[in-house]
Amino acid sequence: MLQQARNHLQSYFGYSAFRSGQEQAISQVLEGKNTICVMPTGGGKSICYQIPALVLPGITVVISPLISLMKDQVDTLLEAGIAAAYINSSLSAAEVRDTMAAAKQGEYKLLYIAPERLESRSFIEDLKEMPIPLVAVDEAHCISQWGHDFRPSYRQIQRLAELLPQKPVVLALTATATPKVREDICRLLAIDEANTVITGFERENLSFSVIQGQDRYVFIKDYVQKNEKEAGIIYAATRKAVDQLYEKLRKSNIPAARYHAGMSDDERINEQDRFLTDEATVMVATNAFGMGIDKSNIRYVIHYQLPKNMESYYQEAGRAGRDGLDSECILLYSSQDVQTQRFLIDQSLERERIPRELEKLQLMIDYCHTENCLQSYIVKYFGEAYAEPCGRCGNCTDSRAVVDVTKEAQMVLSCVIRMGQRYGKSITAQVLTGSKNKKIAEFGFHTLSTYGIMKEQSAKDVTNFIEFLISQELLSVEHGSYPTIFVTSQGKEVLVGQQLVKRKEAVQTKQIAADDPLFEELRSLRKSLAEQADVPPFVIFSDRTLKDMCVKLPQTEGEFLTVSGVGSSKLEKYGELFIAAITAFCKEHPEREKGAAAEQALIKPQKKAASQSHLDTLELHKQHMTVSEIAEKRELAVSTIESHLLQCADEGMKVDLPLLVPEEYWTLLDKAVQEAGRDRLKPIKELVPEEITYGMIKAFLKIGCPEESSHS
Ligand code: ADP
Ligand code: MG
Ligand code: ZN
Repeated sequence: MLQQARNHLQSYFGYSAFRSGQEQAISQVLEGKNTICVMPTGGGKSICYQIPALVLPGITVVISPLISLMKDQVDTLLEAGIAAAYINSSLSAAEVRDTMAAAKQGEYKLLYIAPERLESRSFIEDLKEMPIPLVAVDEAHCISQWGHDFRPSYRQIQRLAELLPQKPVVLALTATATPKVREDICRLLAIDEANTVITGFERENLSFSVIQGQDRYVFIKDYVQKNEKEAGIIYAATRKAVDQLYEKLRKSNIPAARYHAGMSDDERINEQDRFLTDEATVMVATNAFGMGIDKSNIRYVIHYQLPKNMESYYQEAGRAGRDGLDSECILLYSSQDVQTQRFLIDQSLERERIPRELEKLQLMIDYCHTENCLQSYIVKYFGEAYAEPCGRCGNCTDSRAVVDVTKEAQMVLSCVIRMGQRYGKSITAQVLTGSKNKKIAEFGFHTLSTYGIMKEQSAKDVTNFIEFLISQELLSVEHGSYPTIFVTSQGKEVLVGQQLVKRKEAVQTKQIAADDPLFEELRSLRKSLAEQADVPPFVIFSDRTLKDMCVKLPQTEGEFLTVSGVGSSKLEKYGELFIAAITAFCKEHPEREKGAAAEQALIKPQKKAASQSHLDTLELHKQHMTVSEIAEKRELAVSTIESHLLQCADEGMKVDLPLLVPEEYWTLLDKAVQEAGRDRLKPIKELVPEEITYGMIKAFLKIGCPEESSHS
């Protein structure tokens, strides 16, 4: 059965190997064990129930918390050629009836439902008439009151398992791993804790950074403009902050969407839609946004304000880079946000939980101040004993010079004192830079000795510098009807020359992904296909898949199939169009070479070990083992072994191609090739028996023209 699972991974999803934890979760489910699977966001939890759903007879029920996103999940499966449907309140009664009837007929492999459905008796009666081998509980932490998204109707799931005539296997999936929540999930869903599959929490494609002492809006605007084609989320702590930031971005002509709990349902769905379909590239939102969002091409997540704890932070930031491509998670820290978070904790919680939450907030603040690796800090927070520095985060890569800015600091601090410590940042900056603003004369500030002493700098730079002084706690903010600044006791020490002030150069915003005209072309092709199919673009192909096309430049169906994320259904639906676009591009740009975009596109092999894997296969091949023998020995899919050997051949290594294709197929293949020609694989495939794989066909064609396999 496991072999079958591996084949499905390739043929439906187009992936050549399981990620960490997936295989274990799948085999436990196939062995009939209730299982809990804890993996970080983007770790690939869906496959853990989707593949068993394909292997097991009957229909797998998936409980999923967010109605508005079920359609995307089902569309993703349909695109991969897997029959699936959903039942939720967005359907009419007639649609529900039809879907349930089709489900009873055995037309689907997966049925997604909202937990609220389980409260209906008649619905349960309907389910009883279906063979249900597996119930998958997505976002399973919703079952626990200790989790951050408790959903009472999740409690109905326990009953479901008991009511069904054939006891289904239960698979719970979550990214939230606190032991308490895990315990709850196991107890409530009758999962033996020994059947926990838990993977590491490091996300190798994310780079974390904390930026402080810089004007946040200036940073964001600059960043978003530099990365205007990439999708990103900006999280702010309050609805008001979301609205303000959203308006500002719109005024700068940035296609932003927004989302918070103060908006109507329709508005929210509409805004979410604009973001999912790449209509709006930036989503500005409170933490109400994001659960269940599977958009895989989010390239950055910026926190405009401090989140309340590391759990929230990692979950929100972790929405970047689900597709495995390099992505950034930036936290814009300002010490004044600590007040806001303390206030929110104070307001919203029962008394006895406050100390614990304040403690968590402190650990969040510590994250902002640490000079060590940020990714390591995170995984240690989540309980991993040791973590090597990641080499990617802001702290690991910090090489900024340190400058003595004591004199400038003194100028600002004394100006604040002279102004009476009753004004805000921007007017202070105006005084220091000698602004001719009417207000300044009205207040009489033009007569101060500090008026214009920093006039060689822009007001924006000085505001930025004031922000830095706040981050160093030399200035502090008083929140009244509008925020004003005053000098702290530490600031006074600086003023009297008892303390020096050192500053690192500002962090420069950077472009996440290099420009690649082919990528842009494929991206817009994907967008127009998505519009036609009425699905979000990432449902058709992930960014990672497009980037892989840019590297491999597939111009035949066989080559197209080697692209990560291309299975047979997608080959059939989109192969021709994408191959045509790539072929046309290569004609116009003859200088473009295979693999050339690899560095540009920032595609990195996921792990060193994985990129060597084809060489291990080659070793066994040299010992004259057949493909299926190697597959068995290495516990990999036949198609994986085939693609390894073809890769070796492409890389100029000596591969005994006849070993790839059993002799009994040669005459059949020969005949098919004569009839269908050798330009496209699909027509050949249609003429030969099912068990002859695309890999075999490809190898066979190579035998016909050995020069193809011997070049290097
Ligand atoms: P999660 O639910 O854990 O947050 P998803 O199931 O949405 O993550 O998967 C995240 C992304 O990873 C998806 O784009 C998915 O297609 C991709 N993915 C999953 N498994 C693999 C794999 N074995 N190889 C390559 N990509 C994978
Ligand atoms: Mg998921
Ligand atoms: Zn690091």
